[in-house]
Amino acid sequence: MAVDQSGVWRFRELLPIVQDVERVVTLREGNTPLYEMPRCAELTGVDWLLAKHQGMNPSGSFKDTGMTAALSVAVERGFQWVACASTGNTSAAMAAYAARAGLRCIVFIPDGKIAWGKLSQAMDYGALTVQLKTDFDGCLNLLTRLVRQFPIYLLNSVNPYRLEGQKTPAMEMMEQMEWQVPEHLVVPGGNLGNSSALGKGFLEMKHLGLIQRVPKISVIQAEGANPLYRWFTDENQEMKPVQAETRATAIRIGNPASWKKASRVIEETGGWCEQVSEQEIALAKAEIGAEGVGCEPASAVTLAGLKKLVAAGRVKREQRVVLLLTGHTLKDPQYTIDYHRGELLTAAEIAVATVSERAQHEALRKPPMVLEAEEAVVLKALETHMATANAEDTNTTHGSPA
Ligand SMILES: *Cc1c(COP(=O)(O)O)cnc(C)c1O
Repeated sequence: MAVDQSGVWRFRELLPIVQDVERVVTLREGNTPLYEMPRCAELTGVDWLLAKHQGMNPSGSFKDTGMTAALSVAVERGFQWVACASTGNTSAAMAAYAARAGLRCIVFIPDGKIAWGKLSQAMDYGALTVQLKTDFDGCLNLLTRLVRQFPIYLLNSVNPYRLEGQKTPAMEMMEQMEWQVPEHLVVPGGNLGNSSALGKGFLEMKHLGLIQRVPKISVIQAEGANPLYRWFTDENQEMKPVQAETRATAIRIGNPASWKKASRVIEETGGWCEQVSEQEIALAKAEIGAEGVGCEPASAVTLAGLKKLVAAGRVKREQRVVLLLTGHTLKDPQYTIDYHRGELLTAAEIAVATVSERAQHEALRKPPMVLEAEEAVVLKALETHMATANAEDTNTTHGSPA
């Protein structure tokens, strides 16, 4: 049965949101790999580091686990149209599942900065895209009013069924770890639906007696989009919206919808909230890439944040940590290309890097070489390159060829 091949609907007893489970809309989402990250572990100063790669979902992000749930509800309720306001992974996931279900789908997008790579996915799956001369909040406001007048099912992140689907990676993780609960789970924070959903998943498993305790769930934000971090470090315990700016577009959110749920998850599990700079995000992304795994910039905040948690003594060397990688590396290829060409970070952003961070950037960056098509020229260039690489290897512990 198709539902048994879905990493979300395998856990259908824990998400009783549809009547007829054989009619759910599925693209065999979930069942994502849990990778060991020995090199990232070593440079972070922990013994054992794992990455649950939600970018390995059908449309390339964890949003699929929520959309399979919400689209199934839309179908059951007889909707013909679904819509969301998004320039990113939400629209890609919604469009894929709407197409699968044979529903029509509208994506409202604001003027200005758009991640065309992701929007192209929505178009590929047949979504109608409507660009409005306003910002994101303007789009959402208009859409909220529209759905009161037309039978359109709204799929923005406040949709409760999306969170139900998004809690299932917690269960998968426990299966994959043979029900040995890790000490820490580190998650990126944008609208904060994902951290809320994972927290719900773990707390429900504990409630059911499937696990005896829950991991400490820590949320990492970009410095330029850090309202939860500010809440966390503010005595007044009030979240104030910020004007968001970061290259990690999936978490460029200044007024997160699910901040109360996420803050409760952090408090109930004993987790922490950190912020990381653009430079730290770029370095962490390159390190995850160099381990053969790769991820979207927004996902890399987890590794960057973990370094801070370790430095502050909140994560101990012997404790087991799982990073939640939220999106696929191919979601934002321009970021990666700019990074390796040395065109991503500004001088001011690099200026705050430590000496060792700068050396790490140097070692990781692999800009394309442009050479004359002559054997002697190519040989000479490769010789030089190999000599440098070998010298680097003798300076590190993991360099010896297998
Ligand atoms: C949506 C998204 C996030 C942020 O998740 P929230 O639930 O909004 O906190 C992070 N990374 C990627 C790749 C995403 O698509």
